[in-house]
Amino acid sequence: MLTAIVGINWGDEGKGRMVDLLSSKYDIIVRYQGGNNAGHTVVNERGKFILNLLPSGILREGTVNVMGNGMVIDIEHLAGEIERLREKEIEVSPENLKISEKAIICLPYHKEQDILEEERLADKKFGSTRRGIAPVYADKYAKKGIRIGDLLDYNTLEEKLKGIIDWKNLTIEKGYGANPIKLEETLEWLKKYGEIVKPYITDVSKYLDEATKQGKNIMFEAQLGALRDIDFGIYPYTSSSQTISAYATCGAGIPGKKLDNVVGIMKAYSSCVGEGPFTAEMFGEEAERLRETGGEYGAATGRPRRVGPFDVPASKYGIRVQGADEIALTKLDVLSYMDKIPVCVEYEVDGKRTTDFPTGDALNRAKPIIEYLPGFKKDISQARTLEDLPKEARAYIKFIEEKTGAPIRYISVSPEREGYIEVKK
Ligand code: GDP
Ligand code: MG
Repeated sequence: MLTAIVGINWGDEGKGRMVDLLSSKYDIIVRYQGGNNAGHTVVNERGKFILNLLPSGILREGTVNVMGNGMVIDIEHLAGEIERLREKEIEVSPENLKISEKAIICLPYHKEQDILEEERLADKKFGSTRRGIAPVYADKYAKKGIRIGDLLDYNTLEEKLKGIIDWKNLTIEKGYGANPIKLEETLEWLKKYGEIVKPYITDVSKYLDEATKQGKNIMFEAQLGALRDIDFGIYPYTSSSQTISAYATCGAGIPGKKLDNVVGIMKAYSSCVGEGPFTAEMFGEEAERLRETGGEYGAATGRPRRVGPFDVPASKYGIRVQGADEIALTKLDVLSYMDKIPVCVEYEVDGKRTTDFPTGDALNRAKPIIEYLPGFKKDISQARTLEDLPKEARAYIKFIEEKTGAPIRYISVSPEREGYIEVKK
């Protein structure tokens, strides 16, 4: 069984939490895109963990975790993440962690370039996480990337790196006027953290191919959501990689295989980090209250997230591009304080109402049409069946299900592993 767990919205839907929950049925968990700009929070009996690079399955004994070729990996950050897990006595070994030799290394100069560019843009900035993600993906496609597998031979690595750094300095030194990138320093960094990463380097494509032949269950864990996909998201306010399920097998290393199932993680309200159009955004006290109650501060950066009501056009679009077969609706409990629950049911674009998510500049002109549903005003964090929920909460779920047209299979009512309802069909 090949299952992708993906975000329907702008990210931070609770993917880490759902992967942690559902991973018990899977042998292998794969991250297939993105880098350490991700922040996946997992709370379970072993504590609270924030993972940036490692697949969330690392917290489950008996699962093998894979970092696929679609990822960009800051190996210093990875070394730190592994170290922090070991401190909490979580096993990380070549037995349960495999890193694709084709994944690209995010280098210190990518971070530097990211920061230089954000500073150059000043008030026009994109809201980058400043972790080098856009520059490293740009280099990958310009074929100027260093791959994880390059760590296996420092001599050829040095040669490759020299050519790339000469080229990079055309930008860093000659373009931005910053201090030039130094070959020795970069090489030293690569060797230092390369030694830590080396034992995990694997021909992941072959490994996963064999695993599928043995009938292993594989889960593909996405970073961010549909609306941040480089092609289908709110470009240019997107991430620099493909967050959609169609890329899962490709970024993992088995592009010829087909997914059996796509689980879309969808939040009971909206949140969005950084810049870009966010049609139904709330402001002022209303926003403050939702942000506080939902704990909407970036897991990777601590930045306050922008918040809004559940957005039907955006979510319907997310469900479509993700090809979601079933939905996990998360953070329903957060809405408990509301007397009436706002939902953005349609957009108005140039005087016309629509539930289609507009593309291009039309999105900037879209205005939200809000409807209100009765609040449920009750702590639902202990609910474990649909019947445990107040009828207003059930009505809210049904409303969302009908408006978006995708079946809701799981409802998450707290951050803890067991805090969920599985809807029996
Ligand atoms: P991800 O990037 O999609 O993995 O999501 P994040 O970890 O960035 O953000 C989700 C946040 O919501 C985390 O702090 C989770 O612990 C928390 N969370 C997840 N599901 C629920 C839920 O059902 N209720 C509440 N109250 N919090 C949740
Ligand atoms: Mg997150």
